[in-house]
Amino acid sequence: MSGGRTYRGRLAPSPTGHLHLGHARTFWTAQERAQGQGGVLVLRNEDLDRQRCKPEFVSAMLEDLRWFGFHWVEGPDVGGPHAPYTQSERMPLYRTAFERLRAGGFLYPCTCSRQDVLRALQAPHQGEDEPVYPGTCRGREKSFKLGVSGLEFDASNPQPQTPNSKPSWRFRVSDGQAVSFHDGQLGPQTFVAGADFGDFVVWRNDDLPAYQLACVVDDAAMGITEVVRGADLLASTARQLLLYEALGLKAPAFHHCPLMTDERGVRLAKRHDALSLRVLRVRGVSPAELRAGWIRGELSSNLGTPMP
Ligand code: GLU
Repeated sequence: MSGGRTYRGRLAPSPTGHLHLGHARTFWTAQERAQGQGGVLVLRNEDLDRQRCKPEFVSAMLEDLRWFGFHWVEGPDVGGPHAPYTQSERMPLYRTAFERLRAGGFLYPCTCSRQDVLRALQAPHQGEDEPVYPGTCRGREKSFKLGVSGLEFDASNPQPQTPNSKPSWRFRVSDGQAVSFHDGQLGPQTFVAGADFGDFVVWRNDDLPAYQLACVVDDAAMGITEVVRGADLLASTARQLLLYEALGLKAPAFHHCPLMTDERGVRLAKRHDALSLRVLRVRGVSPAELRAGWIRGELSSNLGTPMP
C-alpha cells in the first residue's frame, strides 16, 4: 500500500516482436515491486502501431510472459474492472483526452512531415528519441478550422505550406521549464523543456494517439500507482508529467530500471533474437537460470551471441 491506495503496477509490452531478456528483467522488477507491496499487476497490450503490431506477437507475448513466471490479475486475456486492456480498443478514451487538451489550448496543429510524427506511436527507446522540434508550426492554430470532416485548412488564413495535409497535433512546452521528479530507482531527475525535449506529438495525422498520450490516459484510467519501465524512457516521463498536469490527472510514482545491454554495450532490442524468451525456452534454459544469471550480472556468455 502507498498512501492508503493499493499499489497498482503494470506491464505494458508492445507486440511488435518477441519479448527478450531485457523486457523480462524490467517486468520482473515491476512484478516484484507489486508483490512486495501486496499490490495488483496489470497487463496492457500496447498495440497502437498497426503496421508493426501483429496478432501472432500478442499470443507469443502472453505465452512467453506466463512461461517466465509472470502473473497478472487484470489483462487482455483475463479482463478486469478497467477493460479493455488492449489499446486499440480504447480509442474513445484517447480521443476525449485529446479533445480536452485541444480545448484547453495546450496543442497546435503541425503539418511538418517528420520522422518524429511517424514514430510517435512507439515509446522512444534509447537512441530513438526525437530531436527537439524547432517550433516551425507554433502559432498556426488559426490556419485550421473545424469542418465537417474534422479539422480543415482555412483558406482565408493561408499560412501552412501544405494546405491539403491533415495536421498532427503537438503539445506546446514552455521553453526553459524544468520538469523534475523523484525516481524510485535513480533518485532526483530534471529535464528542461525546449532543451531536453521539445513540443511533442500527441495526436498523429492518421488519427491515432501518440504513445505519450495513450500511456498517460491508460495509466491514469487504470489507477496505476507506480510505473516501472526502462531508464531510456526517463525523458518520456518528463513529457508525460506535463500531460498529467494539463489533463488535471494525478501522476503515478516512477521507477526506471537500468537497461540490459549486450556484450558490446548495445541495448537489447527485439532484433536480439538469440536472447528472445522464445529462443531461450526452446534451448531449454529455465526462467530461474535466467534470473540467477542477471543477479550475477551475466547476460549471454552461456546463452549464445546476440544477432547484430
Ligand atoms: N509499450 C511501450 C514499450 O513497449 C511501453 C513503455 C512504457 O512502459 O511506458 O516500449
